Amino acid sequence: MTNKLWHERAAVLEMDGRAFINGQRVNAISGATFECISPIDGRKLADVARCDSGDVDAAVTAARAAFEDRRWAAKSPAERKRIMGKFADLILAHADELALLETLDMGKPIKYSLSVDVPAVARCIRWYGEAIDKVYDEIAPTPDSTLALITREPVGVVAAIVPWNYPMIMAAWKIAPSLVVGNSVILKPSEKSPLTALRLADIALEAGIPPGVFNVIPGYGREAGSALGLHMDIDCIGFTGSTAIGKQITQYAGQSNLKRVWTELGGKSPNIVFADCPDLDAAVRAAIDNIFFNQGESCNAPSRLYVEASVKDAFMEKALALMPSYQPGDPLDPATTMGAIVDRIQLNSVLGFIESGKAEGANVLTGGNQARLETGGCYVEPTIFDHVNAGMKIAREEIFGPVLSVFSFTEVDEVIREANATAYGLHAGVWTVDIRKAHYVSRALRVGTVHVNQYGDDDITVPFGGYKQSGNGRDKSLHAFDKYTELKTIWIKIT
Ligand code: NAD
Repeated sequence: MTNKLWHERAAVLEMDGRAFINGQRVNAISGATFECISPIDGRKLADVARCDSGDVDAAVTAARAAFEDRRWAAKSPAERKRIMGKFADLILAHADELALLETLDMGKPIKYSLSVDVPAVARCIRWYGEAIDKVYDEIAPTPDSTLALITREPVGVVAAIVPWNYPMIMAAWKIAPSLVVGNSVILKPSEKSPLTALRLADIALEAGIPPGVFNVIPGYGREAGSALGLHMDIDCIGFTGSTAIGKQITQYAGQSNLKRVWTELGGKSPNIVFADCPDLDAAVRAAIDNIFFNQGESCNAPSRLYVEASVKDAFMEKALALMPSYQPGDPLDPATTMGAIVDRIQLNSVLGFIESGKAEGANVLTGGNQARLETGGCYVEPTIFDHVNAGMKIAREEIFGPVLSVFSFTEVDEVIREANATAYGLHAGVWTVDIRKAHYVSRALRVGTVHVNQYGDDDITVPFGGYKQSGNGRDKSLHAFDKYTELKTIWIKIT
């Protein structure tokens, strides 16, 4: 579809901002709404239900009732698989609509909403559906006189609280494994990107997920989010978001019913390029692609680049040559590779970081300014800082925007120390032909994922999560089932 056709579709796209509780679209009980604004041009997309504790109570009541009467959990694994498969099929059938909503709501290029986000969501839902009738429980090696069955049961009512950077993907990583094992789920999308989550709920119902099993509560974090965190009848929270709010969610659990809390939080990922890197061009492209993809709004973006001193000049020359193809453009133009920053608050935060980098003496190699002001939207030039030192704010804090900090090093142990000198521990990159060095560095890095001689490979089959203040949970892969199930042992006397 062309730029013009996407704009024409956007002009007539229907957007329903009502919550989804017990299989129905409903207004917030208070009647309150908030405005959903597109960062592409500042236009209002919809009035969205501003849910608060009353709506959360209604969603929990519906979710609990659905869990207790086992309208979903009692279906055979094969039947749940079939319904999840239909859910995935319907998502693909609505691909254009979902991609357009995602782009309008949070600003990412339509090219990627269509080619990355929608297929990843369908694959995630199908993959967990496929898995559920292939995962077996255990029998313990006990004496002949007894049988000890170790089984997994759904934890009950799960709340999923997600951010705005990949609104549908982050939701799918939580709802697919938690639904398929038989839980009831309440999803709270970010107030910055609520629209696709609500459409997913309509589609799930059409696929056959019974009313009450999957509910969506849009609203602000301090209202709907905290009500979920503090609720006495929610058994588990899967949270993806900032480290600051992750700490708060953990406290809510302690203040309420000790619900299980799984956190997937921020990052400040190091990408280490040794002089013996097998392919400098590939390393340059991966470094630039991965920091600027999704406008830099990726938790695992390699925002700290460490290049061995002897190849740094060559590396940066190649990096700067790539920059013309990473400039922000109209997100509805299929040729655009960088879109809009999610909203004005985030835009001002990113610009504030850029100003702090300049003020603290880092050198702007490229970018450093707001862009496309004439659109009324939120755009930033992709920005690279050189001469960054470890004490600077841009080196320490997660920016969550298109800003790269570049460092140089000479010693292996020195760069490991610097890479690890952060509160975060999400991802890292290592580039070298020396397998011993690659392995030594990979083991020494305190992160959940290390990419060797590539960056950003990803698949639903592998766990995704962090060490340290990047959180304690793992999304994706069969390991995600650990978060949404309880282990039960049943001892049976045989003789
Ligand atoms: P955020 O922490 O501000 O918000 C995340 C969610 O929490 C939103 O739905 C928000 O409404 C809700 N929330 C806010 N305050 C709350 C409160 N007091 N109680 C309950 N809920 C509350 O984060 P964000 O700005 O939406 O997302 C960006 C962050 O997410 C970045 O730090 C990024 O690294 C992180 N992230 C992590 C991963 C991962 O897998 N580790 C993936 C994507 C994003």
